[in-house]
Amino acid sequence: MGLVVQKYGGSSVADAEGIKRVAKRIVEAKKNGHQVVAVVSAMGDTTDELIDLAEQVSPIPAGRELDMLLTAGERISMALLAMAIKNLGHNAQSFTGSQAGVITDSVHNKARIIDVTPGRIRDSLDVGNIAIVAGFQGVSQDTKDITTLGRGGSDTTAVALAAALDAEVCEIYTDVDGVFTADPRVVKKAKKIDWISFEDMLELAASGSKVLLHRCVEYARRYNIPIHVRSSFSGLQGTWVSSEPIGDQQVEQAIISGVAHDTSEAKITVVGVPDKPGEAASIFRTIADAEVNIDMVVQNVSAAATGLTDISFTLPKTEGRKAIDALEKNKSGIGFDSLRYDDQIGKISLVGAGMKTNPGVTADFFTALSEAGVNIELISTSEIRISVVTRADDVPEAVRAVHTAFGLDSDSDEAVVYGGTGR
Ligand code: ADP
Ligand code: ASP
Ligand code: MG
Repeated sequence: MGLVVQKYGGSSVADAEGIKRVAKRIVEAKKNGHQVVAVVSAMGDTTDELIDLAEQVSPIPAGRELDMLLTAGERISMALLAMAIKNLGHNAQSFTGSQAGVITDSVHNKARIIDVTPGRIRDSLDVGNIAIVAGFQGVSQDTKDITTLGRGGSDTTAVALAAALDAEVCEIYTDVDGVFTADPRVVKKAKKIDWISFEDMLELAASGSKVLLHRCVEYARRYNIPIHVRSSFSGLQGTWVSSEPIGDQQVEQAIISGVAHDTSEAKITVVGVPDKPGEAASIFRTIADAEVNIDMVVQNVSAAATGLTDISFTLPKTEGRKAIDALEKNKSGIGFDSLRYDDQIGKISLVGAGMKTNPGVTADFFTALSEAGVNIELISTSEIRISVVTRADDVPEAVRAVHTAFGLDSDSDEAVVYGGTGR
C-alpha cells in the first residue's frame, strides 16, 4: 500500500457536513493502509465571494493582496478538515502551500509551480499523520510573497505533490462521477468516460472542461502520474486519466472523446489596422508585455479600398481590462482606429485523437451546428480538436446538438451532478 494524494474540490467541503463526510473518506483510505495527503479547496463558493468582496473595495485589486486574501479560503478548509479527522480519532496536521514546499514564480494570481520540496509533509506522514494541504497556493522563490495558482489551481497542487512524493495515484474528488463526454450540467445524456489519455484530457481541459485544470494534466503527463477523477458523494469508480489504460481496463481510444464548452472568454477586435508587415507583431507584443494570454486569433480579409484590416482575438474575460488598457496606451505606436470588446461569446470544441484519421469529422461538426441554427464567428483547429466561437446564448444548444450528432448520448443513466453551484 503506497501513498495516495486526494484532492477535494470546493463543493465536496462546502459545509460542516461535507467536511465530516470527506474526513471519513480520508480515514477510510488510511485504515486501508495508505499514507494519505489530502489537498483541499476553499469551501463552496468562498473564492468567488472573496473576489467579489475585494472588488467592492477596489475595482482592480492589487495582485499581491488578492493572493493574501484568496489563500485564506483554503486555509479555513484545511484547518477544519484536520479537526474533523482528529475528532474521528486519527492524527492529522494541516499545512499551507508554503509550509508544504510549493515554490512558485512571482506572477500573482496565476503563478506557476517551479519546485516542490515537501520535507515537512514527508516527516508528518512518517510519524503516522494524515497530511492536509491547502490547495491553490504557494510561495514565490524570489519575493517570498504568497502566490495563487489561478482558478481551479488546487488540482495542480495535488498533482505536483503526488509527483514530488512519488504517489501511486492522484485522486481528484469532485461533484460529478468522473470526466463525461460533455459537461453533465449542460448535457443530461453525457456518458462517463472510463479511461482517457493525457492528450485528449489536455485538449478537453484547455477547451474549458473545468473538471480538471489544464496545468494539472500537463504536470501529470510530464511526471506520468495517473489521475483518478471521481465523486466524493458516491462510491463509484470514476475516470482514469493516464498514458495507457491501467490494469484490466479494456478500453479502446474513442474517435471522439467529448465536447467541451467555455463561456469564460471575451473577444477583442482591433479595428482599422494598416495592412502591412509588423502590425500583428506589435499588437501581440503589447498584449504579451501585459502578461495576458490569448487563445484564438483571426484577421479578416483586407479591405482593399482602404488598405486596412481588422484583427480579432479571444482571451479570458478576467484579462479583458488589462488588454484594452495596454492596447489603448500603445494606440499611436501600433496604429489602429478603435477597439471593440465583446464578452457575450462562447466556445464549443470537439476533441478526439481519432479525428486525425477520420475524414469528415469537421464536416459533421459544422453540419450539426448549422442544423441547430448556430452562427459561427471564429474557427480554430489542432490535430485532435476543432473549436468554434459563437454567441454565448447559443452554447448549450450547440453542445447538445454536437453531442447527439457524434453518437455520444447515453441511452441509460442520466449524468448526476451531486453538488456545487457551477459558479
Ligand atoms: P471542484 O470544485 O471539485 O474542483 P469544479 O467545479 O472545478 O469542481 O469541476 C467540476 C465541474 O466540472 C462539474 O460540476 C461539471 O459541471 C464541470 N464539467 C465541465 N466539463 C465536464 C466534463 N466533461 N465532465 C465532467 N464535469 C465537467
Ligand atoms: N478555490 C480556488 C478556486 O475556486 C482553487 C480551487 O478550487 O481549485 O478557484
Ligand atoms: Mg476545479
